[in-house]
Amino acid sequence: MKLDIDTLEWGQSEMEISGDLSLELGEGCPQSVQVEGALAVDNLENRFHLKGNVKATCETQCGRCLETFTFAWKAPVEIMILRNIDRGEDQGDTLVLHQSRGEVDLADAITECVSLAYPLTTFCREDCKGLCPTCGIDRNKQSCDCKEEDIDPRWAALDNL
Ligand SMILES: [Zn+2]
Ligand SMILES: [Zn+2]
Repeated sequence: MKLDIDTLEWGQSEMEISGDLSLELGEGCPQSVQVEGALAVDNLENRFHLKGNVKATCETQCGRCLETFTFAWKAPVEIMILRNIDRGEDQGDTLVLHQSRGEVDLADAITECVSLAYPLTTFCREDCKGLCPTCGIDRNKQSCDCKEEDIDPRWAALDNL
């Protein structure tokens, strides 16, 4: 995931992104993430603007049923590389890298974008039924006779009106 700014063609081009990144997504979260995608590259001589989306895939644990599954998510990436410019104008949320020549290693910047786009909770599927809070069985695979006691207190309050 390197971009050589010495040989990069003038104007617009495209850069393929593909490889493995190591991410720290917190306790019990994946370390190795595969990424693939393409970034639109705009070479403005001393500024190099990269923008696009990468698809990230990793093994993770479902937040409801705790099964391990392959999770994929999309991460927007926007990076500005500045050559011989100490300080650009405010770039907002764009990651800014400074390098005057040679190959720019984008792995850290892309790792940051991919980490930021990782959701707080991951589910193996939208309608995962999760584990029974009473007996602990996986309700996607078995059913049990436990009573559902998780009535939302806001609705319970409405019942009393
Ligand atoms: Zn699940
Ligand atoms: Zn149960």
